[in-house]
Amino acid sequence: MTTGHQLRLYNSLGRRTEDFTPSAAVVGLYSCGPTVYSFPHLGNMRAYVFADTLRRTLRWKGLPVRHVTNITDVGHAVADSDTGEDKLEVAAARERRSVADIAAFYTQAFFQDIAALNVLPADEYPRASEYVPQMIEFAARLQEKGYAYLLPSGLYFDTSKSPGYGALAMMDLAGQREAARVEHVEGRRNKTDFALWRAEEPGVRRVMRWQSPWGWGAPGWHLECSVMSIALLGEHFDIHTGGVDHRELHHVNEIAQSEAYLGDGRPWVRFWLHNEFLLMNAAKIAKSAGGGPRLADLEQAGYHPMAYRLFLLGGHYRSQLDFTTQAVDAAQATLRRLVARVALLRPLPVAETLAAARALLTDDEAGDRDKAAAGYLDQLDAAISADLATPKILAALQDSLRDPDVGTEGLRVVVAAADALLGLRLADLDPRAIDRRRSVSDLDPAEVAAIERLIAERTRARGERDWPRADEIRAELERLGVQVTDTPAGPAWELR
Ligand code: AMP
Ligand code: ZN
Repeated sequence: MTTGHQLRLYNSLGRRTEDFTPSAAVVGLYSCGPTVYSFPHLGNMRAYVFADTLRRTLRWKGLPVRHVTNITDVGHAVADSDTGEDKLEVAAARERRSVADIAAFYTQAFFQDIAALNVLPADEYPRASEYVPQMIEFAARLQEKGYAYLLPSGLYFDTSKSPGYGALAMMDLAGQREAARVEHVEGRRNKTDFALWRAEEPGVRRVMRWQSPWGWGAPGWHLECSVMSIALLGEHFDIHTGGVDHRELHHVNEIAQSEAYLGDGRPWVRFWLHNEFLLMNAAKIAKSAGGGPRLADLEQAGYHPMAYRLFLLGGHYRSQLDFTTQAVDAAQATLRRLVARVALLRPLPVAETLAAARALLTDDEAGDRDKAAAGYLDQLDAAISADLATPKILAALQDSLRDPDVGTEGLRVVVAAADALLGLRLADLDPRAIDRRRSVSDLDPAEVAAIERLIAERTRARGERDWPRADEIRAELERLGVQVTDTPAGPAWELR
C-alpha cells in the first residue's frame, strides 16, 4: 500500500509549489490571528478556514500538528503604523469601555465565529499582552546585537542590517521604498525600518503601558508574532500562515527580526502560506473600511455558517473570491442537497486520515465496489495534496454520491474522508437547520409555486377524504420546512 500522494504546498517564500515534508516529529503551525478591536468580518474568516483546511490536511497525512493562533490585544497601531494610536485604545475610547473589556468582548466574538464555522480549535491562543516581558527581552537582544537604534519615538529595527530583507515580498529595495508607508518618522534611517518598541510621547499617557529599558511604552506590532511563535513552537518551525496582505509587511518584518535574533544563518520558518482576499464589489473587505459583513449578518439573513464555509471551499485559497448573494445562495442550495443525500448514509465512520479511511475499506468484503470507493479516496488525496485543491474535493465528493459503482459502505467512508478535509459537518448537520431562518420573502417564485401546488393537492386529498395522501403531503411540506395551519378561510402556511 502506498502512502498516498506527496503533499505539495505553495510557498510564498520563493513563490513556488514545493514538496512538504516535516522537519520535526510535530509540525509547528502558526497562524496570524485577529486584532480584537472590532468584530471579525467574513474576509477574516477566510484566513481561519484556510488555516483550518491546512491543519486538517496535515492530520489527513498522519502528521501530528501543534497549531498556535495569536490574539492581538496590544501593539497594533491604527493604519499598521509605528507611531499612531493603538487600535484597541481607539476602540475603547469610542465605545467608552475599558481596553480589557474590548479585548475580551471581541475575542469572544472571534471564538464564536470560528466555532460556528467548525474550525478546529488551535492548541494555543496566546495573547500579545501576556508576552510583553518576553518582547522586551527580544528587542533588547536585537539592540545588543546592533540591529536596533533608538529614536525619541521608540526603538527601531534597522532593515539595512538584515541581509535579504523583504525576500518574502519579492520586492527589491527600490520597490519597497516606493511602496513604503506614507508615515514620516523623524530620524528613521530607512523607510522600511519598523518599531520594535513604541515610546510614549511626552505628555501622553497610554492606557496600555509597560516600563522598558527605553522608558514607558508599548511593543511594536510585528514583535508579538516572532516572540510568541518561538516561545510556543521553538526557534524554528515548519509553517506560518496569514492573509496575503501580511506577505508584504508584517511577515517580512517578522522574518527580519527573528533571523537577526536567532542569528544561526538558517531560515526561521520553512513554509509561508497566504490566503488571497475575499472581495466585495471588487474591493477587499476590511475592518477599517466600515466593518464589513459578519457571519452573524449572514445567519440573520437565513444562511447557515456551513453554507459560508462551503462557499469558501468552492474557491481555491490562492484565488481571490467574490462575495455575492448569488454565490452564497448557490452554496446554501448545494449544502441543502448534499446534507439531504448524506443524511441517508448516517452514521458515518471516522476517517480523519488517509490510512484510517483505507483501513475501513479493506475491512469490507465487497471487492469491486470497494475498488470504486478506493478510487475516490485516491482522488481526494490527490486533490488535497496538490496545494489544497478543495474545489476538486467537492467535485469528487459529488461524483462519488452519483456513482452507481460505489457501494453504500464504501460511500460512507468516502463521505467521511471528504468531510474530514472539508469540515462541513456532514456527519451530524441537521438538514432542517440549514434553512431555519428563511422567511417567505427569501424564497424564489418557483419555490413558492411548488409549495402552493403541494398545499392545493393536500386540500384536494382532504376533500376526497384521502387521509393517507394528505398526511404524506404534510410530511413532505414539513421536510421543506413549511408549516401548514388550517384556518376557517383555508390553509395558511409559513416557514419554520
Ligand atoms: P486582522 O484581524 O485584521 O489582523 O486580520 C486577521 C486575518 O484576516 C489576517 O490573516 C488577515 O490577513 C486576514 N484578512 C483580512 N481581511 C481579509 C480579506 N478581505 N480576505 C481574506 N483575508 C483577510
Ligand atoms: Zn502575525
